[in-house]
Amino acid sequence: MTNQDLLKIADEFGTPVYVYDVESIKVQYEKLTGSFSKNTRFFYAAKALTNINILKYIEKQGANLDCVSINEVKLGLKAGFSSDRILFTPNCVDITEIEEAMAFNVHINIDNISILEQFGNKHGGNYPIFIRINPHIFAGGNYKISTGHIDSKFGISIHQMRHIERIVKSTNINVEGLHMHTGSEIKDPDVFLQGLEIMFELADHFPNLKYLDMGSGFKVPFQDGDLETDVKSLGKKVDKAMKDYTKETGKEFQLWFEPGKYLVSQSGHFLVKSNVIKQTTATVFVGVNSGFNHLIRPMFYDAYHKIENLSNPKGPERIYTVVGNICETDTFAWDRKLHEVREGDVLVFRNAGAYGFEMSSNFNSRLKPAEVMFLDGKATLIRKREEFEDLLKNQIEVL
Ligand SMILES: *Cc1c(COP(=O)(O)O)cnc(C)c1O
Repeated sequence: MTNQDLLKIADEFGTPVYVYDVESIKVQYEKLTGSFSKNTRFFYAAKALTNINILKYIEKQGANLDCVSINEVKLGLKAGFSSDRILFTPNCVDITEIEEAMAFNVHINIDNISILEQFGNKHGGNYPIFIRINPHIFAGGNYKISTGHIDSKFGISIHQMRHIERIVKSTNINVEGLHMHTGSEIKDPDVFLQGLEIMFELADHFPNLKYLDMGSGFKVPFQDGDLETDVKSLGKKVDKAMKDYTKETGKEFQLWFEPGKYLVSQSGHFLVKSNVIKQTTATVFVGVNSGFNHLIRPMFYDAYHKIENLSNPKGPERIYTVVGNICETDTFAWDRKLHEVREGDVLVFRNAGAYGFEMSSNFNSRLKPAEVMFLDGKATLIRKREEFEDLLKNQIEVL
């Protein structure tokens, strides 16, 4: 997909619009499957991007699905994933949401002692489960996206193993898998190896264990000079660790991973229009027809998204601060060198496939953008832009 294709899409469908070049998802998926042993399964973390067409495309590639809410499970089933290809990894849900997932026959991952106990008391060994462990490894791009550290709400602390064992033994729970997800954007692949070693130690406690789920942490480059997780080398190291373990113990597990960003981040291109160029004493602002209500990552995670001016690619370069139209501090980027931006120019935010549209909201009573899929050289609308009526859809006018 070229910049010309993007400009045509902006013209045809208007802005703001999310565009997904879905073939890049396939490229990423095949990089993963080509790097690890055949006995490894990848569960796309649906929460990164759940448009039903994206889910269907990923299903066709042969991937599996990791879901964090019962609605993601339902979307996955609707997209064609069979129940054995879905893992449900919720947190802070009550037992009824777990039981809803049981009715769908998907794999279930339990992440706290209270639910484990309730589950054991009610269902015993009738339904195999995963247990989510918090290994207390600090990893991930920043504190907000790190999930394994000591203050994190996720998983059951590794220091509570005795308690887990007590519940499992006394209620006969059948533990088919262990899970850990230490965070997003792990820079050091040895963190996975460290996690795997911990898994091997824990595995001794669960005789029925079949699966080890290492979560995600696969990194993609957001700016020039950033690295992508070297999956080739990681795959080699992990496979060796698995083989060594099998040699030593005679036991063999299937390894699972849950990439979100790695699969869909680079597929996404978010197109906006420059509304206003505003020169203040200190800064030249580009005010665009979007805001953190559409792409929250810069404001929420201090995330860097590459921005390019598509409609004036040869203009002289100038330094801009790119801001949104929300009545709040709403900065996409400080001090960016862009080809001269004029009012009306089309800008693109790269790497907008993961946690872009998915985290959008109606703050300031602004409408959510459209989504377009680009496949085989063709652009197709896959979600229409919201309309004013959508803001009132669920409101009950009583006055
Ligand atoms: C969010 C999440 C992922 C995916 O993380 P990425 O950084 O997008 O790869 C995987 N597993 C679980 C349990 C998650 O919550």
